[in-house]
Amino acid sequence: MDLKEKMTLERTAMPEQDPVKRSSNFLEVSLGFTKELASKEACRCLNCKVPACRTGCPVGINIPAFISAIENNNLEQAADIIYESNLLPSITGRVCAQENQCESKCVRKAKSSSVSIGSLERYVADWAREHGYTPKAKLAEPNGKKAAIVGSGPAGLTCAAELARKGYDVTIFEALHTAGGVLMYGIPEFRLPKEIVTKEINQLKALGVKIVCNAVIGQTYTIDDLMNKDGFSTVFIASGAGLPVFQNLKGEGAKGVYSSNEYLTRANLMKANRGGVTPLLTADSVAVIGGGNTAMDSVRTAKRMGAKNAYILYRRGEEEMPARKEEVRHAKEEGVIFHFLSAPTEILSDENGRVCGIRCQKMELGEPDASGRRSPIPIPNSDFELECGLVIEAIGTGSNPLLTRATPELKLNRKGYIETDENGMSSIPGVFAGGDIVRGAATVILAMGDGKRIAEEMDKFCNA
Ligand code: FAD
Ligand code: SF4
Repeated sequence: MDLKEKMTLERTAMPEQDPVKRSSNFLEVSLGFTKELASKEACRCLNCKVPACRTGCPVGINIPAFISAIENNNLEQAADIIYESNLLPSITGRVCAQENQCESKCVRKAKSSSVSIGSLERYVADWAREHGYTPKAKLAEPNGKKAAIVGSGPAGLTCAAELARKGYDVTIFEALHTAGGVLMYGIPEFRLPKEIVTKEINQLKALGVKIVCNAVIGQTYTIDDLMNKDGFSTVFIASGAGLPVFQNLKGEGAKGVYSSNEYLTRANLMKANRGGVTPLLTADSVAVIGGGNTAMDSVRTAKRMGAKNAYILYRRGEEEMPARKEEVRHAKEEGVIFHFLSAPTEILSDENGRVCGIRCQKMELGEPDASGRRSPIPIPNSDFELECGLVIEAIGTGSNPLLTRATPELKLNRKGYIETDENGMSSIPGVFAGGDIVRGAATVILAMGDGKRIAEEMDKFCNA
């Protein structure tokens, strides 16, 4: 196809489950490209000599090369190219905010819309998984050295894979009973099926990586045990930022107030009310406080758990919402009701101490604050109340102190996150850290980028 013809092609839409049907099931919302749709979208890529898209990818995937392989109907080659830089493409193809990364840099964006890079990545990864194709990867001979990873989220998994490929004997220690971190306990099934995460983790096990679950580092074992008793030459701490944060609202102690972490873990990981034994309170009306991806996941989960009225209460406007635009659109299509410029002031409860409503105050936007977003200012005498039986607070998370408290030699910043040097090494020689426990709550691909980059540094440290 010549350039002129390519330029006439519109971005291919992702097929999706019907909004009415999907708002009462946990099946995946986005259905993935068919072979025809993928070929059509791949044709839109201009195979730029200097591909700007690549500079927007934190793990540096050779984007035009894999898209060109799709166009040439060589999916094995496309998979080999992607897996060279990214071990979890079925996951990143689904949850990465491509619109702010590779796709934001795509030259086609200026004239019409960017190439749908994320959907094409997902297509190739799904094809490889469904056809049992194992992408070619260079594996070094065992080097006799042991590396320990704390936490099995995207940072830990990526670092483990990179070190295993370099010949290390790698063990991941995970506090929960299942590996995967937020991919498993936070992001709901309707965005990221757990079967996919499990299969990606199995690929890692095939590289020889051992995963020890129910092992809380700082309690079950200490960092000192790993480094000085158990013979690990280096440790990577990737324990995430999973500590729930509450707003300290009046009435927060009522029955029926959850942090988004607890709510999502009960619903996703423990399959509460869907065959699991873990209980989860439900209500006809549920109010979720927050405007990020976690708030969208919570409110859409509440809808699927039977809420007739699922509300988002967000103190700024729609423009300022940090959630992905696609997630907001999906939530709206599923019937979620958005109250923008509305800040909760009190949780109301009945005579049994159970949540029965929430009081809010209307806001207007003032000057931009430190985050660059316009700050909300309360409007006097603008209070209103919403009836609801559950309140879910999705206002962010903090660093979990379990490991850091038990390891006083680890230097932390004022928010409790681990401080590292430019090579990702902490204040303890040989102990590195990355992902959310260093950055604060961030993204899957940034955590993976850390895991990849820091594996190189750990290797250099072990060979110095
Ligand atoms: P985590 O994924 O948090 O993994 C850390 C792991 O370490 C956990 O399994 C934890 O149990 C374990 N651990 C903690 N302490 C210990 C210990 N002492 N010993 C042993 N193990 C320990 N990002 C996106 O890019 N796109 C999205 O759509 C998106 N949606 C999100 C939705 C939700 C609900 C949440 C909560 C986050 C979302 N994010 C999203 C953010 C993203 O998931 C995180 O930035 C990413 O998972 C961080 O990876 P990590 O490996 O650093 O930590
Ligand atoms: Fe293709 Fe866009 Fe990357 Fe150019 S910038 S190579 S058009 S995806």
